[in-house]
Amino acid sequence: MLSKRIASITPSATHAMTARIAEKRAAGESIITFSIGEPDFLTPRPIVEACELALREGKTKYTSSNGIAALREAVCEKLRKDNGLRYSPAQICISSGAKQALSNAVYALCDEGDEVLIPTPCYVSYVEIVKLAGGVPVLVPTNDDFSLNTENFRKAVTPRTKLILLNSPNNPTGAVYSRMSLEELARIVEENDLYVISDEIYEKLVYDGVKVTSIASVSDAMYERTVVVNGFSKAYSMTGWRLGYTASNLTVSKACNAFQGHMTSCPVSFVQYAALKALTDCDTAVEEMRRAFEMRRDYMYTRLNTMPGIRCQKPQGAFYLMPDVRAYLGRSDGERKIETAEELCNYLLDEAGVAAVFGEAFCMPGTIRFAYANSMENIRLGMDRMETALTNLK
Ligand code: PLP
Repeated sequence: MLSKRIASITPSATHAMTARIAEKRAAGESIITFSIGEPDFLTPRPIVEACELALREGKTKYTSSNGIAALREAVCEKLRKDNGLRYSPAQICISSGAKQALSNAVYALCDEGDEVLIPTPCYVSYVEIVKLAGGVPVLVPTNDDFSLNTENFRKAVTPRTKLILLNSPNNPTGAVYSRMSLEELARIVEENDLYVISDEIYEKLVYDGVKVTSIASVSDAMYERTVVVNGFSKAYSMTGWRLGYTASNLTVSKACNAFQGHMTSCPVSFVQYAALKALTDCDTAVEEMRRAFEMRRDYMYTRLNTMPGIRCQKPQGAFYLMPDVRAYLGRSDGERKIETAEELCNYLLDEAGVAAVFGEAFCMPGTIRFAYANSMENIRLGMDRMETALTNLK
């Protein structure tokens, strides 16, 4: 009954974990979640008020398919100020979430059989979006510290390679790619006539004073060859509002607009007015959330690294930690034997009431992803419970 394309995709492991958590909670169990990539903060009040006002003013009709002009102008201003990138409003396509923006860009650029290079570990949806568009995902491992391995990219390029899908700051690792590594990658892109989709949705969540570089800004050629993807979900705690965008050359932007016009007509009208407020009047709220995330990262990183056998890199962005848990594979608590990170995740969920996502879901077996988008109190409790559960594995 199902099409080959739909039959080929794998449902999201993160969503599967969310369903298991709901079942356990319904059965009365106490579960601490480090599995969901969603800030735990409320959406800042001025954004909510701007939305309420837009609703009261009747801004409830279709907008142009690439979004209202005022928001596209504000996005241009943001990209100029934060990223040193100059776009005109016609080069911006506002979408229902960064995920739709990514899908628009992949469909705009990818022909049947085109190869798309994706550094791994990677965000779960990249592989599936590429497959849905008829492309062939090619996984390119990063270095042990999750930095880009440009040599691996060179080796992975074939005459069928069309595009690289980048994500910095990265989900699931939290890695922020250095300007130097992006410049090296840009040389490979230019030499081989490739394109880049640069997912920068975690851009505002960076720590230790690190600076994020958009690969679109490293040269004029890369400006032409890059589709920047960004959105409001993570920086403004607006996951449920569903708003994101692409910035690209005019040809790709028109294609994204045409595709989106047929898929969803336009992004939600009143949410666009809320996003306009987010871009123009919410820097303080974003900074408060960023600081809270940085404290949580520091705490969780220290706790994980002091658990015997757990090895964890210190990420400089996003809100994830991805420790290597291989020291625990092959162990048992006397009743169940743990062979994979997935089994260890299930063990932690059942025995410690701690939910995280196994690395296999991000193309990185032997690891587990912990999202620290949870209160300090819950992080402390979750780490205590995990530490105890791990000591029972011999
Ligand atoms: N890109 C990355 C790397 C993400 O982690 C996520 C959400 O988890 C998205 C895109 C999707 O963002 P949005 O909620 O704007 O669709």
